[in-house]
Amino acid sequence: MERTLLIIKPDAVAKRTTGKILHRVTREGYRLCALKPERLTPETAGQFYQVHREKPFYKNLIEFMASGPILVAVLEKDNAIRDLRRLIGATNPKDAHEGTIRKEFAEDGSKNAVHASDSPQTAREEIAFFFPATHFS
Ligand code: ADP
Ligand code: MG
Repeated sequence: MERTLLIIKPDAVAKRTTGKILHRVTREGYRLCALKPERLTPETAGQFYQVHREKPFYKNLIEFMASGPILVAVLEKDNAIRDLRRLIGATNPKDAHEGTIRKEFAEDGSKNAVHASDSPQTAREEIAFFFPATHFS
């Protein structure tokens, strides 16, 4: 069993699609280990996306992620990390395959509805970022 982090981003929360997205992932066999609403500040959003600090879209990304409430989830199943990346689809919904979460719910390559961890190391770090003292069962 493997755990990964899913974030439902401010655009999707504002559009009231959190229920549909959570239904989608649980239907695909993920177990919901943890779930909490959050509100990032530009500082905490900047920390979370440190890896992108040199990118041209960084400032915009930080502003967007701090623009409204988000919903943060820890999801568990076999090969959760790889499979959730496949389920969310490409970063830009124009490139995302039919049936992916971003194809259905993303507005564009910035406001793209969800985040999912992309490796075992980032999954560990990102889960600890939002749930530092939690022992999952
Ligand atoms: P992913 O979320 O698919 O792993 P990245 O790690 O490359 O994508 O980028 C992180 C986030 O930054 C994206 O989900 C998106 O919100 C934003 N982003 C990425 N590339 C662009 C871009 N070219 N223009 C605007 N925003 C972008
Ligand atoms: Mg990424």
